[in-house]
Amino acid sequence: METEGIYLCPHCGEEIVVPLDPCAGREQRYTEDCPVCCSPNVISVTFDEDGEPSLSVERE
Ligand SMILES: [Zn+2]
Repeated sequence: METEGIYLCPHCGEEIVVPLDPCAGREQRYTEDCPVCCSPNVISVTFDEDGEPSLSVERE
């Protein structure tokens, strides 16, 4: 099953859709370059008990 999350890039304000892997842990944190403006974003993902992801993002 593929899960997707959406975040707003803090650099350019674009909505970015990212694939998420619930099997990689309940809490994940990683850096990803924005596909629109290529700026690095630190993405924090938390899955609740139903497997619903919530994302937060900050500038690196
Ligand atoms: Zn961006």
